[in-house]
Amino acid sequence: MKNGPKSKFAAYRKMLEKKAEEVRRSMSAQKAAQVVSRLDVPSDEGDLSQQHHEEWIFLNRNTLDMKLLREIADALHRIENDTYGICPECEEPISNKRLDAVPWARYCVSCQEQIAVRQAAGEMVDELEEASR
Ligand SMILES: [Zn+2]
Repeated sequence: MKNGPKSKFAAYRKMLEKKAEEVRRSMSAQKAAQVVSRLDVPSDEGDLSQQHHEEWIFLNRNTLDMKLLREIADALHRIENDTYGICPECEEPISNKRLDAVPWARYCVSCQEQIAVRQAAGEMVDELEEASR
């Protein structure tokens, strides 16, 4: 057990759990700030559109945070399944350097770059990701 693959990634698991906690904390802090700003009732149209703009930014940031949380949860799941650190595209191990920088990385650098290119070209990568689970 001590030398099993799960303990090999124990440090990454800790990093992932810590990051998830940070994101959750920042999300609830944003939410609190949003609730406080709602207490100021807009007095005219200008204030109202400003408030809508702030809500839009908030939702946008929230979506990114949710996406990151999902990626972290997926990475933790891969640690459980012993598939962590292996790129599903080329089946090569992902470098420690990359995992240290982005512990929730699913793909190796070169596959990630190819995926980014395909994504930019409008291919539905999300569907591929779902299918590979
Ligand atoms: Zn790869």
